[in-house]
Amino acid sequence: PAPLSSWALNVSPSPTLAVDAKAKALAAAGEDVCGFAAGEPDFDTPEHIKDACIAALKSGKTKYAPTPGIEPLRQALADKYLADYGLKYAPSQFIVSPGGKFSCYLTILATCSPGDEVIIPAPFWVSYPEMVKLAGAVPKLVLADDSTGFKLTPAQLEAAITPKTRLLIINSPSNPTGAVYTKPELEALTAVALKHNLYIMSDEIYEHLTYDGAKHYSPATFSKEAFDRTIIVSGFAKTYAMTGWRLGTTVAPPHIAKAISELQSQMTSNATTFAQYGAVAALKEKEKTDAALKTMLVAFDRRRKFLHSELNKIPGIKCLLAEGAFYLFPNISSFGLSSVDFCSRLLEAEKVAAVPGSAFGAEGYLRLSYATSDEIIAKGVSRLAKFCATLK
Ligand code: PLP
Repeated sequence: PAPLSSWALNVSPSPTLAVDAKAKALAAAGEDVCGFAAGEPDFDTPEHIKDACIAALKSGKTKYAPTPGIEPLRQALADKYLADYGLKYAPSQFIVSPGGKFSCYLTILATCSPGDEVIIPAPFWVSYPEMVKLAGAVPKLVLADDSTGFKLTPAQLEAAITPKTRLLIINSPSNPTGAVYTKPELEALTAVALKHNLYIMSDEIYEHLTYDGAKHYSPATFSKEAFDRTIIVSGFAKTYAMTGWRLGTTVAPPHIAKAISELQSQMTSNATTFAQYGAVAALKEKEKTDAALKTMLVAFDRRRKFLHSELNKIPGIKCLLAEGAFYLFPNISSFGLSSVDFCSRLLEAEKVAAVPGSAFGAEGYLRLSYATSDEIIAKGVSRLAKFCATLK
């Protein structure tokens, strides 16, 4: 066969989707698998959101829409950012894309040229480095391990910046660690980024999933200067249990918003038209949406606390109590196995699927998603304990 392109040869497939696929294949073959790999709520999309989409479909909202999104959705997004964060954006500054993943990629394409450097704190969401590479830019990974609560320090950021640095990626609450930056922590990082004229891509897709009173902050709220250098990426998948709908959002300074829309116009056109009407209902029928979100948050919080306390009962495992998203990121380095070996032996021996920390740029850890049933969590963590006992 003809040789593949450098793009195709250099991209690594998503390891989280790969572990999940392997777990699902084992389950399909009749194995009793406890899956902690998928980064998706186990809840269904709330009924009123589905109803709005069905109504749109039935009333003929089946044509192309404006590339950056339908007007009512962009208006509803502008209203949301004003109400939630006091941020004043025009509807024209929003771009609705087919998934938050694509929103991230377009943001990178709009801000980075080949050779530019992008600072990515590790542990990172698996797609960031690959997307940066697919823009011809260079990922600069900076490890923030559990000694700093998986949070980048201003000194680490300062040390990683070079004249080629264009963009800093911040993801709080974080996938894979669940870490949530406090306001002073995020302000300090923002100050360093602004001092060096960087753009900040703030991936806020887990903005509503916080616990223990932790609050999500956006760098865009800190100052006029920060507002002008921040691009906020978010989406409907995690908060509203809408992973399959493929709806992501970006809000950016006007010239960047225009560039993102132009890139999208040549790459996919608009996100699915009738799906966007469901998203309008998610934002506008706030009481119903908030009630559904509350139900999910109560369940996630219960599972978070349970999983955390069970993990820390296992000799050799140390796990921080993360305040956001739906992941825990236990330290397994005491077992002396690579995280890939640990996970593949765990899946083989106990049929428990977890994602190795190395996939997120952090050796010696596992990512466990607790967006799964209480029963699976209880069974899975006791199998994990059994497995760990065989290693000691
Ligand atoms: N950003 C982060 C940190 C994520 O974890 C995800 C999903 O896993 C996304 C963005 C993209 O989500 P989606 O493309 O499903 O909207």
